[in-house]
Amino acid sequence: MNTVAANITATRDKIARACHEAGRDAAGVNLVAVSKMQPHDRIAEALTAGQRLFGENRVQEASAHWAGLRSQYPDLKLHLIGPLQTNKVRDAVALFDCIETVDRPALTDALAKEMTKQDREIRCLVQVNTGEEPQKGGVPPDGLPDLLDRCRKLGLDSRGLMCMPPIDEPSAPHFALLKKLAHRHGLRELSMGMSADYEDAIALGATHIRLGTALFGERDTKP
Ligand SMILES: *Cc1c(COP(=O)(O)O)cnc(C)c1O
Repeated sequence: MNTVAANITATRDKIARACHEAGRDAAGVNLVAVSKMQPHDRIAEALTAGQRLFGENRVQEASAHWAGLRSQYPDLKLHLIGPLQTNKVRDAVALFDCIETVDRPALTDALAKEMTKQDREIRCLVQVNTGEEPQKGGVPPDGLPDLLDRCRKLGLDSRGLMCMPPIDEPSAPHFALLKKLAHRHGLRELSMGMSADYEDAIALGATHIRLGTALFGERDTKP
């Protein structure tokens, strides 16, 4: 078995254990394999191992990786997990199945317009900046009600929330906050948890965990 396949198997076991401990059905936790800055052969290994849900954080890099593989793997699902500039919305709507980083009115409006134009409805999650970090994307928690309102009025399929806790703080309080916010707004999906903290995220209700290094190993840091 190749390394990526072995990592996927081992990780799925850990997910199953975390679900069991939390009294949850493992089918309720979707593993998003974060393939950003990974060489093509590792992505190919994941596909061979049966992985079909992937996350990328840049539109252009994702196009380079995935545009050609789409036709080969019709059941492939791609999530955008990095910040989206409005001038990339056209390419993002064409390529992705879900945008996890909806965080401002200019973006909700551009996405709605582009989906109409392309006659393609894709799913959205609203990213919440739970740590209120100035350099990070995401709507601050007190701006969430208005942004969700806007999503509904525009007809966006926004069924959940996503967060990325500050790296220098324990994640669990941020996951708990995201869960509370989702519950308050009747949203079912929670994208939270990365390689270092996904078991905590599962305990706190994650429906999507985004794992890169745990599956693929260290990323290539050169641009
Ligand atoms: C890179 C990235 C991940 C994956 O991080 P790992 O620590 O490698 O699992 C998850 N979510 C987002 C938004 C990312 O940018």
